[in-house]
Amino acid sequence: MTVNALEIQVKLLSPGLFGGRAADGNIRKSLPYIPGAVLRGALAWYARSCTEVDDMMFGTWFLNEKIRWPELHLDGDNSLKSVRVCKYFGDPDLPDGHPCVDDIWFEPADRPQVCGKCGEPLRRSAIKRVATCQITRTAIDPVTRTARDGSLHSIVALAEGQIFKGTLTADISVEEWLALDAWLRNVAKSPPALGGGRSAGLGAITMSLAAPAERISVADRLRQWNGGTNSVRFAVSLTSPAIIRDTFWRYQRTLDCAAVAVSSPRLEASRFVAGWSDVIHVGGWNEAAGLPKENALAIDRGSAFLFETSLAMSDAADALESLERCGIGERCAEGFGNVSVCDIQHLQCRPL
Ligand SMILES: [Zn+2]
Repeated sequence: MTVNALEIQVKLLSPGLFGGRAADGNIRKSLPYIPGAVLRGALAWYARSCTEVDDMMFGTWFLNEKIRWPELHLDGDNSLKSVRVCKYFGDPDLPDGHPCVDDIWFEPADRPQVCGKCGEPLRRSAIKRVATCQITRTAIDPVTRTARDGSLHSIVALAEGQIFKGTLTADISVEEWLALDAWLRNVAKSPPALGGGRSAGLGAITMSLAAPAERISVADRLRQWNGGTNSVRFAVSLTSPAIIRDTFWRYQRTLDCAAVAVSSPRLEASRFVAGWSDVIHVGGWNEAAGLPKENALAIDRGSAFLFETSLAMSDAADALESLERCGIGERCAEGFGNVSVCDIQHLQCRPL
């Protein structure tokens, strides 16, 4: 079994409405990204109308959770919650860049409070804002010529023209992968619309596929992280929300060694050092059953956790490679629980 990956890029040609079924009054608001389940659902529905997809292929691609359908985020953005910046960070009009500060590299007492360049306070770097548009519909009563009772509805959709990206990974045989890859490339020529309101023209897209950027191995990232030190420290950052429950089925708000060890047992011999996290509520819609999925509490994307392990560097690298491959928690096939070990963004913000 090998792990195969494909970067999926979707451009909205019309406004998109994703998730957000829990309506607040007459307003329904889209999620700021395209959930993996929406992508999987649309492609599964499409596959049912393709004669070249037999039941065996359909089962492998959509039913057995070996393929992890990614969440697609605006320009693939993922801001880490341990990183803070001043208000001038990334300002293209300033000739000298202002540094980002990643708290993961500091002991709590040593964390800088202000920017070393301008002295302005440091704040958590915000995730890129998704542009939205509001669409309001109503029905006119032919007799009174006013809006019919209860017929005024608004949706806040993601504006067209924006590009969303994510990486699909699959733990399947080479032949199965080649078949999926060929089918997806064919689908990309005229992809199905995604999300809600498709019959009203929402969610029209173009889709393109590309090989993902060359991956630096976990072993290399781990070596870069630890330099020549004896103890091995590693960071686990979430690139999609993770749904994790303890043995009493309670939703977890932070990542501990026990949760990490479920995916990669050797990591049990680790110690939690520090964490930066938020939680969000996630829901979903089961298209096949026509029913809402259970609402769950998830640890948010961008959350970052630092651990220390007593394993030797090479053993730790193997164990972490498998953690990155398997992901953590529940509903991984829908894009939840994707993790990055010693993420390159942490390494880029490392103090000199
Ligand atoms: Zn500054």
